[in-house]
Amino acid sequence: MDLTELYQKVTEYGDICDHCLGRLVAKRSFGLSNDMRGKGIRIAAALTLNQPYQEQSGQCWICGNFFETVDHWADKVIEAFTGIGGETFVIGSKVPPLMSESEEMIWSDLGLSDPEPLKSEINREVGKRVAARSSLIGDTKNPDLTAVIHISDGTVKVQIRPLFLYGRYLKYERGIPQTHWACRACKGAGCEACNGTGKQYHDSVEELIGRPLLPVFKAERVVLHGAGREDIDAVMLGSGRPFILEIVNPRIREADLKVLEDTINAQNEGRIGVTDLRWSARSEVETLKSHKGHKKYRILVDIDGSVPDTALQSAVQKLSGAIIRQRTPTRVAHRRADKVRERGVLDIRYTGKEGKDFVLEVTGEAGLYIKELISGDQGRTTPSLTEVLKTPARVVQLDVIHVEGTDQVKSHGTS
Ligand SMILES: [Zn+2]
Ligand SMILES: [Zn+2]
Repeated sequence: MDLTELYQKVTEYGDICDHCLGRLVAKRSFGLSNDMRGKGIRIAAALTLNQPYQEQSGQCWICGNFFETVDHWADKVIEAFTGIGGETFVIGSKVPPLMSESEEMIWSDLGLSDPEPLKSEINREVGKRVAARSSLIGDTKNPDLTAVIHISDGTVKVQIRPLFLYGRYLKYERGIPQTHWACRACKGAGCEACNGTGKQYHDSVEELIGRPLLPVFKAERVVLHGAGREDIDAVMLGSGRPFILEIVNPRIREADLKVLEDTINAQNEGRIGVTDLRWSARSEVETLKSHKGHKKYRILVDIDGSVPDTALQSAVQKLSGAIIRQRTPTRVAHRRADKVRERGVLDIRYTGKEGKDFVLEVTGEAGLYIKELISGDQGRTTPSLTEVLKTPARVVQLDVIHVEGTDQVKSHGTS
């Protein structure tokens, strides 16, 4: 369709602004803005038809003259960004359905192949104006700040890119879950059983680490992504368990991580601690969660009857380096599929007695069920300590003392 014909057909629908006119041929030519394209179409039509040049006279029937309000919207966006840390931004918009319908109708009536949607032009034009009037830099890929302009009700909503912190945590106190658990009775609504907290456990590692950080980053909440998790009743010692903490809606994006580490450790003394804090990124969360690290445990084992040290030593030697066949343990069978899997015991050694219990240190492949390695789970795990000793044995206390970390960092850079 030539430009004059396009112009004649489009203006039959009503008045149209230069932006909306130009968008219809947004892919034609380069180095032009859509309003320049729109003007060009008017000029071409006036010259071809040898008629007076016609400016837009009334209200644009597609956008309602939105583009006259770009300055106003840019001001609103800048106001909404005020007081929030960040260097880069992008604009998004919610366009009233009627506007979208109008333009889709014209695209289909005229059989246009690749017009530019109103939304894209709004986002770009408001974005250019915000960049010109502030120190922020436009970035469509990974912006710190996103402003969504809601055209119908005149509001601007800001989304803040989360921050990510990598570290390792230690857990000295038993009975603390890794992450916040909703109360089983009320599913988080708050009830008598949970004293209205909505929580099954009073604290979690996630909350204990997050609590001192919220005011520092003026953030809404934190989400802890752990490299696996230990049982609630196990402590986590040694070099700690790797985690990435996602800080949601931070209005401040900078902090001295050494100071943060000290604050977290001081506030949670005797309960949990963190080390090795550094900046991370969302892309590292997947790497962390899928990492198949070996784990080292220190366990206390209770054995029936009286077992000489030499018998235990030789039993342990038989298990060291063994591949263990484990059918899904009875204790988790109600929530996991029943299947048999094989995991290696990389190392197991007997290190002495503690009271009447035996202290063992076990390094296993990720996923090895330690309690069953000892008890045999009524023959579902084989070989087991119970099986090779020919005497029932069970774990009475289990502590994780080392988890292999992720390999070197690929990304950071948040400040
Ligand atoms: Zn328009
Ligand atoms: Zn409850």
